Amino acid sequence: MNYPLPAHLLDSVRIAWHITSWCNYSCDYCPVLIFHKRGKNGDKRDHAFDHYTAEQWMEAFATKFPQKDILLKITGGEPFLDRENFRKILTGVLEMPRYSIQIDTNGSWDPAYFREVDKTRLSLNIAFHPRMVPFEAFFKRARQMRDEGFHVEMLNFVLAPENLDEFARRLEEVEKAGFFINLSPMNPTGTYLSRTERSEQEMDLIERYNVPVDVKYKVVRPKTKGRMCRHPALSYYLMFDGSIQVYCVGKMQNLFTDGAPPLPREAVACELDECIACTEMYRALVDEPLVTRPLSLYHRGEYVEEVKEHRKRLFWRKVGARIPFGEKIFGKPVRMREQLPPQPRKPELLAVDAIKPALPAGPVFGSLDMNGSIRAYGRDRVYVSGWAASSLYGAPIEGVRVRLEDQELGFIRNFHARPDIAATYQREELEQCGWKTMVWLPALGRGSYRMVVEGVAPDGTIGELGEVAVEIVE
Ligand code: SF4
Ligand code: SF4
Repeated sequence: MNYPLPAHLLDSVRIAWHITSWCNYSCDYCPVLIFHKRGKNGDKRDHAFDHYTAEQWMEAFATKFPQKDILLKITGGEPFLDRENFRKILTGVLEMPRYSIQIDTNGSWDPAYFREVDKTRLSLNIAFHPRMVPFEAFFKRARQMRDEGFHVEMLNFVLAPENLDEFARRLEEVEKAGFFINLSPMNPTGTYLSRTERSEQEMDLIERYNVPVDVKYKVVRPKTKGRMCRHPALSYYLMFDGSIQVYCVGKMQNLFTDGAPPLPREAVACELDECIACTEMYRALVDEPLVTRPLSLYHRGEYVEEVKEHRKRLFWRKVGARIPFGEKIFGKPVRMREQLPPQPRKPELLAVDAIKPALPAGPVFGSLDMNGSIRAYGRDRVYVSGWAASSLYGAPIEGVRVRLEDQELGFIRNFHARPDIAATYQREELEQCGWKTMVWLPALGRGSYRMVVEGVAPDGTIGELGEVAVEIVE
């Protein structure tokens, strides 16, 4: 069966532009492999203006997309870091009435520099990162942006464990000042790559402040492979180096030399196990019963309206629950947490002497999944993974420490399944021994540095899991 794009969207497209992987912040839960800034040695780094000039990009936006209604979603990293070129882009693209722009930013820039930009079709999603900036400074900037004429669609809080209390403390103040506050469930990313569990407090907040379809695809994460979806029919994914694909399903090609690939203009079968999970994406699944609104480009204002309605309904349900038949009138709140996958089991330890093959020597053992060396720039972010267990405690153990020379780069407390290791040693208590993380390197000069990974048992016993050389090239 075919599911064509509705007629009103045939001349519309959204372009998700990953403009840069530079950022001035270093959040633990960041999903992007972030780089600090342009290299001193002239190497191309992961920023759009390292690959093409602002004028070339504007020319591409003017000529390569013929549609009449275009939503350009700009994300990073931090898009405002190369402010001179970025101002040129905003000014140039917004002079084309076909375009609206949405930007995800950390709000660390001076809005006065963008005073002359026409902001009528420009909106901001400003994310608050409590470990990077005090709330007062962040909030002052957000107000300045609004005073300078920016449309601040939302202030976004990422629900990392370290942010839960901060959110509860700030909600009232932010809403009183007339901002919409968004609460994003944190995905297993960055330092939290192996994290699967969510606390009751976290689930309460997620369900209260997010509409059910967002909870379903961001937290429960059902299978999507094979389901028909219209997102690819109206969306492109564009990278900082000019590669472009039909979103989720297409092959990459170069926008500047090959143009934009044709869009299918009808639903196609999803090729991924789970949805990448941006709000507009799973709303395009044709069989999703929790989608309540007609398909659209889904400007962020539409999302804000949807969430506000949801919060209002919850309020009235609460009031309604106090009167007879209240639930019949207002309906039962949707709870998603029952659909979360079960927590990994912690099997009983087997007697050591009953086991073959023998475990590695030492009370804490494991390995680092990495040979050779890591090549990086100072302040880059690098990915490391491996497994760790203990002959006394099984797995998971207390944690895994990643050090660079004498400096601790991270301590991982979340573990994931490694059935291959359990099978190798024929010990099911090693099931949850996998770890993975993304750690920030300090500002280092050129040279070779030793990265050491250690497992730490609940009684404090430490065992070295492996080491790798980090070659800093600049
Ligand atoms: S989460 Fe955002 S602000 Fe934080 S490091 Fe990543 S891109 Fe930068
Ligand atoms: S379900 Fe998600 S990942 Fe799959 S095609 Fe649709 S938008 Fe893409």
